[in-house]
Amino acid sequence: MIDVIVIGGGPAGLSAANTCARNGLQVLVLDEFMKPGGRLLGQLHEEPDGEWWNGIKEASVLASNADNLGVDVKLGVSVHNLQSDKGNWIVFTNKGKFRSTNLLLATGAAETPLPLPGWTLPGVMSIGAAQVMTNVHRVKVGEKGVIVGMNILSFAIMRELRLAGIQVDQVLLPPRNELSTESSNPLKIIDDLSEAAHLAPGFIMKWGAKLMRVKALRKIGLSFYPSNGFKIWDVPIQLKQAVVEILGDKKVEGVKVVKLNTKGDPIPGAEKIVEADFVCIAGGLYPLVELAAISGCPFHYIPELGGHIPLHNERMETPVDGLYVSGNITGIESAKIAMAQGVVAGLSISQKVTKRIKLEEMTKAIEHVHDVRAKSIIQFHPDIQKGRKKIEKLWNHYYQEKKQTKIPSIENSI
Ligand SMILES: Cc1cc2nc3c(=O)[nH]c(=O)nc-3n(C[C@H](O)[C@H](O)[C@H](O)COP(=O)(O)OP(=O)(O)OC[C@H]3O[C@@H](n4cnc5c(N)ncnc54)[C@H](O)[C@@H]3O)c2cc1C
Repeated sequence: MIDVIVIGGGPAGLSAANTCARNGLQVLVLDEFMKPGGRLLGQLHEEPDGEWWNGIKEASVLASNADNLGVDVKLGVSVHNLQSDKGNWIVFTNKGKFRSTNLLLATGAAETPLPLPGWTLPGVMSIGAAQVMTNVHRVKVGEKGVIVGMNILSFAIMRELRLAGIQVDQVLLPPRNELSTESSNPLKIIDDLSEAAHLAPGFIMKWGAKLMRVKALRKIGLSFYPSNGFKIWDVPIQLKQAVVEILGDKKVEGVKVVKLNTKGDPIPGAEKIVEADFVCIAGGLYPLVELAAISGCPFHYIPELGGHIPLHNERMETPVDGLYVSGNITGIESAKIAMAQGVVAGLSISQKVTKRIKLEEMTKAIEHVHDVRAKSIIQFHPDIQKGRKKIEKLWNHYYQEKKQTKIPSIENSI
């Protein structure tokens, strides 16, 4: 019998699988993509110290470690159902059923769509699709395009597209509607992006972005925001312009843009057409949790973590026996954090199977997650720490409600 099936061969899943295998467990990793590494495969960014984070390299280290440790990695396998059966898990996939005593869900995140008129035209894609086409499949998404939506991911991928020689003409806001909500509010965008000031290129830009952390200065900043946008890596960022329609007959030919006042309301009559042959929509990320829902795991909506989150503790255990989670399914964070969480999940599963994991090893692995989080340069949600505290409280509350006097803790689980 397999000790653990890991669903998702991204940084969280592979790190967990390798930790389990190092502790002598029989491990099977299932992933629907044709390459191991998950979202790491598309990542390429420059760290503040000038070093480059090359996700393809990181993924190949994790995958070759898995290979050397005897982890069975099956690719092109899509999981669509789970069942718990007398202490075992049955995992249903497009390639048949698999059984194991433990299950780790490391399915990552998905992109939030931002619908707008014309978005079904060929040439419109999510920003993540543009990243995968460019960095994984090496396919040029177009000659000249625009990005609709401003967040840390759209700026990171804007740079990746430029590095690949693709012209990003400008980055614009989405139209204001019930679905775009805060992602179309220029003041909220300034607020969010000022938290990523350390990533801005150049000294002046960094300081400007830091100043925007002062609430009173944000409105002033927006009033004086240049009408042609502010350039980051040579691409104008249009905080006072929104795309209201994507235009084209059989494929994308351009976008209709309106000017906005400082409140983010359209200025009547101030419309223009921007030519483009591709459009990337960037609506942000949310945890991919469907399989956790099928498993019967309780959920909580925690916006600071990116959406609905399966209840779990710091050891990546869930209240469902033999079910563990790690990586972006527990909240949207960077790949380094997903890897650190994967190690913790791997230790928890190994402890359940072997009873040989030392308390210090587990404590150190959890501290490493905190440490990586504190030093993380990429923060998808500024209040991530608050979100993590919320889920911890909910975990304790769940056990108190069940009238269990002993809340499972590291000490009494090891
Ligand atoms: C579009 C996109 C772009 C991103 N870009 C960046 C970036 O540039 N920098 C950054 O730091 N972070 C980025 N992230 C965040 C990224 O998710 C984390 O950095 C990290 O990759 C999360 O690791 P993970 O292992 O939790 O999930 P992932 O890396 O997403 O891996 C999850 C794996 O699970 C597999 N999977 C999911 N569901 C199933 C199923 N039902 N059956 C079988 N397999 C399944 C997927 O194929 C995938 O390989 C991005 C996320 C997304 C969605």
